[in-house]
Amino acid sequence: MSDPDEVSDAGADVPEYETVDVSVLLIGAGAAGARTAIELAECGVEDVLVLGKRSHGDAHTTWARGGINGALGTQDPEDSWAIHAADTLNEGHFLNDPQLVETVTAQMPDRLRELDEWGMEFSRTDDGKIDQRFFGAQSFRRTAFAGDHTGESLLNALVDRAQELSIPYQEDVMITKLLSDGDRVYGAVGFDMDSGDFILFNAGVVVLAAGGYAAIYNRHTSRDDENNGDGPALAYDAGAELMDMEFVQFHPTGMAVDEGDSEWEPWSGRLVTEAVRGEGGRLYNADGERFMERYSPTQMELDARDVVARAIAQEVAEGRGTDNGGVYLDISHKSESFIRERLPRMYARFDELGVDMAAEPIEVAPTAHYGMGGVSVNEYGETRVEGLFAIGETMAGVHGANRLGGNSLAETVAFGVVAGKHIAERGGGPGHIPTRLIKETAEPQFRGLAMLADRDGSHAVADVCIDLQNLMWEHAGILRDEESIKAGLAKLRALRRKTDDLAVGPVTSDSFEFAIDIGFMLTAAEAVLRGARERTESRGAHYRTDYPDVDTEWQRNIYFERADVGGMISHTEPVGTPSKPVQDAINEGYELDYHQLE
Ligand SMILES: Cc1cc2nc3c(=O)[nH]c(=O)nc-3n(C[C@H](O)[C@H](O)[C@H](O)COP(=O)(O)OP(=O)(O)OC[C@H]3O[C@@H](n4cnc5c(N)ncnc54)[C@H](O)[C@@H]3O)c2cc1C
Repeated sequence: MSDPDEVSDAGADVPEYETVDVSVLLIGAGAAGARTAIELAECGVEDVLVLGKRSHGDAHTTWARGGINGALGTQDPEDSWAIHAADTLNEGHFLNDPQLVETVTAQMPDRLRELDEWGMEFSRTDDGKIDQRFFGAQSFRRTAFAGDHTGESLLNALVDRAQELSIPYQEDVMITKLLSDGDRVYGAVGFDMDSGDFILFNAGVVVLAAGGYAAIYNRHTSRDDENNGDGPALAYDAGAELMDMEFVQFHPTGMAVDEGDSEWEPWSGRLVTEAVRGEGGRLYNADGERFMERYSPTQMELDARDVVARAIAQEVAEGRGTDNGGVYLDISHKSESFIRERLPRMYARFDELGVDMAAEPIEVAPTAHYGMGGVSVNEYGETRVEGLFAIGETMAGVHGANRLGGNSLAETVAFGVVAGKHIAERGGGPGHIPTRLIKETAEPQFRGLAMLADRDGSHAVADVCIDLQNLMWEHAGILRDEESIKAGLAKLRALRRKTDDLAVGPVTSDSFEFAIDIGFMLTAAEAVLRGARERTESRGAHYRTDYPDVDTEWQRNIYFERADVGGMISHTEPVGTPSKPVQDAINEGYELDYHQLE
């Protein structure tokens, strides 16, 4: 939308709203929100409320497939947390915050064992240990998994644990604005998506665990109603900084389909898990060449996601792609029983569509998968706005210029624990929202929401969303250049004007939710485009055809903040240095040799 504040008419009555007082408000009930809530409860903080836009247990996390990383050493005892950190920094092209990386990798063996105790249904070795598989660009087998439905098993285990601890959960609530004076957060404003009631949350601490922003692209792996940038945009509006937004991971293997075929069309861009390659899948172009031999003879299909995605894009651009603009992924050299056991959901999905993965290849092409950027936080997951935390996919810093598969689920649970402990230690109750914030922020927001409902504008919300997603694919996609990014920013300004004139349904309608989401998407999109223009080099997932090389001067993070008088302003800062054990592991130069799989 349009920001409800801009729609608000100061003369109109303030609609009725309910007030909820709580010490800690957790916005988001995926793995990150759930794990934070569990930690808070275990530390004795009782006055906690978790909310999400969907019912309990239904968050984007359930779509995670291939696995979750932690150096347990089940298969490769020489693995360690420091090598895990080294692989993460290597893959992030040394733009990650080393301290945040180490916070994740050092904890993960314990976090995995704890999840096991809480009933997560890990796949196991013959002797009953948590099994671990290869995943791209990792030196050892450290990706623990539950078949190819790891996210669902993880969230089930966390929800069960949260229910055992009687943690309150409010479903179908959408937050539209945080209450902040720029220095401190006091709560949030939102509405019940079922009843349409408006709610003011008075909270001493707010944890944003509201997911990422990859769905601002037209080919993406997220659910359409998630990863629209809610988390980063809410934090930015409240005075926090965004960081590394230009780094968007294009997963090499989304489904490439005939878009004219109604049975296949809904599957366009949907994820084909990296586990297919991790279990030995091979990529071929339309001429039957195993083309990764040319791009990455050692790591082959299991090279970093950015390398494989660009290789596929290049094969297609040079005319060696399939009719559907993709390439072939083939695991048919493995037995049907192996595929059914290791990749059950993938096998079933293609089987339903009439393709037997054990007998023939599937078609794949790159798709927007994950935003490495997000909200800038310190070692506890706290933003520069006091009391406002951002964790999980909403936060930035762990993945740098490109993310290792299996590391984002790891980040959710690791930072859930760190943030939860820190909040418990600092203590405090619901707080007290200053009257000025109620009058100048909350009430105008409620008025704006009321006026947005049933609005009779000229542009359909869905059309504007699609225009925005197409714009991002065209102007900030896999290959970028100055001219195209500038044109994208100009188009974005025009699109923003359209959002003042949207046709919107009642508060409980999908179009109302998406009208608000468009506002979040515009913020995320602008930061991606601006970051992509500012970063005059190629690094990780950010590839500039006019600056094709890494520039060591650019080993810096780009931050965006909201200027007092309109507009986004940026600054850059150099990244930190890793600890000695991690630097030693980097110096050792561990690397996956794909051919050991064959
Ligand atoms: C198809 C797919 C497969 C993946 N596979 C893997 C994998 O194998 N391994 C791996 O490590 N990672 C994987 N990932 C990434 C991983 O799934 C996510 O990064 C992770 O699950 C994010 O968890 P989260 O808790 O941060 O957010 P989410 O699970 O996205 O939860 C966000 C929560 O915030 C709520 N919310 C959002 N906006 C609002 C709002 N405005 N108001 C109120 N509530 C709001 C939502 O309702 C939801 O409850 C995959 C991603 C995709 C798309």
